[in-house]
Amino acid sequence: MSEEPCYDCLVIGGGPAGLTAAIYLTRYHLSIRVVDAGKSRASLIPCTHNHAGYPGGISGKELIARMTEQAQMYGAAIVAGRVTRLDRIDGGFRAEWGEGSVMARTVLLATGVTNRRPPMDEDLHDAALAKGLIRYCPVCDGYEVTDKRIGVIGSGGRGVAEAVFLRGFTADITLIAPDRAHELDADDQARLTEFGIEAVDGPCQAVAAHDECIVVDTPEGHYTFDSVYPALGSDAHVELAQQVGATLKEGVLVVDSHQRTSVPGLYAAGDVVLGLDQISHAMGEGGVAATTIRNDLAKERPILRERLSGSIRAKASEGA
Ligand SMILES: Cc1cc2nc3c(=O)[nH]c(=O)nc-3n(C[C@H](O)[C@H](O)[C@H](O)COP(=O)(O)OP(=O)(O)OC[C@H]3O[C@@H](n4cnc5c(N)ncnc54)[C@H](O)[C@@H]3O)c2cc1C
Repeated sequence: MSEEPCYDCLVIGGGPAGLTAAIYLTRYHLSIRVVDAGKSRASLIPCTHNHAGYPGGISGKELIARMTEQAQMYGAAIVAGRVTRLDRIDGGFRAEWGEGSVMARTVLLATGVTNRRPPMDEDLHDAALAKGLIRYCPVCDGYEVTDKRIGVIGSGGRGVAEAVFLRGFTADITLIAPDRAHELDADDQARLTEFGIEAVDGPCQAVAAHDECIVVDTPEGHYTFDSVYPALGSDAHVELAQQVGATLKEGVLVVDSHQRTSVPGLYAAGDVVLGLDQISHAMGEGGVAATTIRNDLAKERPILRERLSGSIRAKASEGA
């Protein structure tokens, strides 16, 4: 018999999806463990203005800190670490990370995605991101670049789609190919012309970030922008899902309308699932996943609170 504890649920990932689930699961009186590698995309947000409930905005780090405090308040144990191995075992799963390992009846994958970065020095990138000179999410912060000079680093259908989306916020858009000359089909070319978007060939390199502008070097010369949006796609953290054979589509996890993956007992929420990559959506999916986990566990074994010693009713009548 193994000495490892067996939890009702192991939550892998402590971003908005995983932490929302942790809050719900602990409030359902379930035993859980959260393991988090500490690289939430939310922690990169200097100040979000589209997350409801914060009219003055809130930084991603502050939001994560508040959610962590709330989950811990209800008893969630949050461990720092990157889970590297997930196996199906009799009655659930076994996970390993660094020095630790744990068994759990169910697992929630809330591992998120990583954006592909544009070609540029890493420190320069991080400084520019903190100042809003580099942005990754037009849905989140297109409003903040209204009527500004915007560069989109990308090409093909994805780059054109992002440039056209941003056209709803500003008329000054330049689409720059990241690593070579643009290869645009006739439809993409026609859309750029229709929407008045200039196309510049690469390879490009963002070379300087000042207080209020960023400079991008291309074979056609230097371009100065108020902000640059890399439109290079992202990579979902699905390695653990692959280890247990969960179904993927377009590189992200497929779930049913209750956040169940194709593997019984394995659930997923947030950016790692196909859908709108937003905090509100990740939180919503985290809440749905937690409630499904609770109800699926209750089908195996009813979840019933023990009676307190002595009947509450008896005490009440004593006091009457
Ligand atoms: C620059 C930027 C600005 C943004 N602005 C906004 C905004 O204004 N509004 C908005 O709604 N959204 C915004 N977003 C998007 C938002 O951050 C994401 O949609 C949200 O963070 C997704 O939450 P999540 O919990 O699914 O994933 P994440 O927040 O990315 O969290 C996933 C967590 O899982 C951990 N993890 C991954 N693999 C493992 C593993 N194997 N073991 C343990 N832990 C693991 C990661 O380290 C991370 O901590 C922005 C994103 C970026 C990059």
